Amino acid sequence: MKAVVYEGVKKLAVKQVDPPSVHNDSIVVRVHTCAICGTDVKAYNIGIASIKPPVILGHEFIGSIEEVGRSVKGFSPEDRVTMATTLPCGHCLMCRRGLPNLCMDKSPVGTFINGAFAEYLEVPARGIEHGNLMKVPDSLSDIAGSISEPLGCVINSQNIAGVGFPDTVVVIGGGPLGLLQAESAKARGALKTVLIQRSKKRYEMAREFNIDHVVCSEGTDPVKYVLDLTDGFGADVVINAAPTREAVQLAFRLVAKSGRVSLFASVPKDNPLVEIDANHIHYGQISVFGASDSTAENHYEAMHLLAKGGISTDKLITHVLAIDDFFKGIDLINSREAMKVVIRPNG
Ligand SMILES: [Zn+2]
Ligand SMILES: [Zn+2]
Repeated sequence: MKAVVYEGVKKLAVKQVDPPSVHNDSIVVRVHTCAICGTDVKAYNIGIASIKPPVILGHEFIGSIEEVGRSVKGFSPEDRVTMATTLPCGHCLMCRRGLPNLCMDKSPVGTFINGAFAEYLEVPARGIEHGNLMKVPDSLSDIAGSISEPLGCVINSQNIAGVGFPDTVVVIGGGPLGLLQAESAKARGALKTVLIQRSKKRYEMAREFNIDHVVCSEGTDPVKYVLDLTDGFGADVVINAAPTREAVQLAFRLVAKSGRVSLFASVPKDNPLVEIDANHIHYGQISVFGASDSTAENHYEAMHLLAKGGISTDKLITHVLAIDDFFKGIDLINSREAMKVVIRPNG
């Protein structure tokens, strides 16, 4: 079968590999669609140290079950499925606390075990036992459904920060995840949603989405804009979805007293220190939250939000390509021509 194989830093190949075979306790899935994630692009551009080569990339997928292992219950051939990426151990302290996304012995699909940029993918017992693999509702298309994983990560962060009615929610960064953050906040009942984007190109793209206010910070002062919009108070929730230290600092200038800041995006690994006024947090009673990855519950919620039509997937998914065009997809993302690119491994 054809697959996208990560073979080391700056080494990625679309090539023929042996298809997986089913085991007693596993399931083999025929992949319909798999979206390219920032992680995949990063692996191609600069390499990711935690990825164990050789491994097939891809974790944002929808497929149908090809074969079910003899001891597996609850799934049948032809079931359409998707999967939460991080397969937890189920026994460590984090798993015991109901935080499988923070599992200390996790095996993520598409970086640690073979992923879904391939015609077929094997789901090991771990992915079945802990509820990661799940059936997809008929109303959700293969293409739209491949956004379930990134949207699950967004839902994780919004659950942690308690986003809902009647919050004014400001999102910094108009990439795919920032757009998902803003539209998800709206779907959860946010009173006002604001998206701040620096570059003009993505600002113009973001204006097409279901977001109340889109601000281009190249021409408009985002702090003044948000203060004017909120009678001088600032935002109830600020979510940083831009991978820079400046964006983290901006978040604290946008948040109201008693507000919440979610550090959803990471900052460059080689320079992660950010200077923040601790007294501003202290006197303002500001809460700061981290958020990373998603759980099977988050993934399930995301899948149903997509099925309900709560997210502009038609605008977010700008390209659908064959697996042979994988590198074209990477180029489209690197040049910012594309938002989300979906690959169809089986044509
Ligand atoms: Zn992803
Ligand atoms: Zn664990």
